[in-house]
Amino acid sequence: MAFSEKILATKELVQKEIQPYLAHPEAIAEQNTLRVLDAMRECRVSDAHFGITSGYAYDDIGRAKVEELYAKVFGAERALVRSQFVSGTHALATVLFGILRPGDELVSITGKPYDTMQTVIGYDNPSPGSLKEFGISYNELPMVEGKVDLAGIKNIITPKTKMVEIQRSRGYSMRQPLSIEDIAAICEEVHRLKPDCVCFVDNCYGEFVDVQEPTAVGADIMAGSLIKNPGGGIAPTGGYIVGRDELVELASYRLTAPGMGDELGASLVSNRHIFQGFFLAPHVVSQAIKGAIFAAGMFHHIGYKTLPLPEEKRGDIIQAIELGTAEKLIAFCGGIQKYSPVDSFAAPEPWDMPGYADKIIMAAGTFVQGASIEFSADGPLRPPYNVYLQGGLTYEHATLGILGAAEAVLQIKD
Ligand SMILES: *Cc1c(COP(=O)(O)O)cnc(C)c1O
Repeated sequence: MAFSEKILATKELVQKEIQPYLAHPEAIAEQNTLRVLDAMRECRVSDAHFGITSGYAYDDIGRAKVEELYAKVFGAERALVRSQFVSGTHALATVLFGILRPGDELVSITGKPYDTMQTVIGYDNPSPGSLKEFGISYNELPMVEGKVDLAGIKNIITPKTKMVEIQRSRGYSMRQPLSIEDIAAICEEVHRLKPDCVCFVDNCYGEFVDVQEPTAVGADIMAGSLIKNPGGGIAPTGGYIVGRDELVELASYRLTAPGMGDELGASLVSNRHIFQGFFLAPHVVSQAIKGAIFAAGMFHHIGYKTLPLPEEKRGDIIQAIELGTAEKLIAFCGGIQKYSPVDSFAAPEPWDMPGYADKIIMAAGTFVQGASIEFSADGPLRPPYNVYLQGGLTYEHATLGILGAAEAVLQIKD
């Protein structure tokens, strides 16, 4: 595989241009590595916690230790970290169904939620088993010019509002992700208006992008996926929930069964993968962010709208690029796939993914199926044909994949 002269020349230029912006993610990675190390020391993580358990798995010390560690690092009282969560959506849905009761209202503060969450909620995208079928009402506060409408929160919270959902990452939209400061301000305002309202953060793609997490700055509970940031590319599957003690407990009764909660659930693979991935996660996130900065530089250079720009501060690991046509979106994903370590021979095609309203195209030549902390790209087949690029276990690999994608896109005529 070789790149054209034009692509290589652009790469040289872009690498020089972005050099000043790479120091920031590197500094954050060092600080977060120290935070994880300190917590591992305080928790006294040891070889004894790497065992495998079976059956009900009562008194699984490895599982308990993983959860103690997650809670500590995320500044929360309690955690539920399980391979039994099939995905991030499952962990997020477990929070919603665990805490909300018929007659309660859920409010999304960040406009339309991520596609799969719309299916869980059931108003935009009706689905059997959704919150709507259980008599939970729903409202949302649209974002204003890509920002949360802080002043509008007081008009949308009602006595019935049991929970607000705050999505940190951009999802499949061109809005900005929230910063930790944004999340702190939202939680403060919600709690000022209604102290018992639960501030729930969808933390997908946000972990370790900053030096604090939402639960350390006012969020009551949050959830995410282990095959994104906190799994560090090593966790084979799973999800996590962290937050206030009684809220995580309620969620645990939904994950297993009322009365059982977090006391059961076998560690079918060694928790070593979870510990090791969590230890690597701050570094891997920095690699992904550096890759995203390079992608922004590269595509900005060849004439595409990118969000964010290379110099902008990041709140998640996602790089959005507006490609404009379906052909370019498909070509981009094909380029990424070709430079993947796994399934490099496959050509990605748009398909009807479960939980999504539009057809989705995905490039993911990953070791862990669909892991988007590994270098991957996807996007819904709808105008303006944005591609969302994320992950990269190494900056070097992300760079090569982006060159491949740029090469493929340049071959499509306007
Ligand atoms: C990835 C993601 C989810 C959950 O997706 P899964 O594929 O189920 O892990 C939810 N919300 C946001 C914003 C996401 O990026």
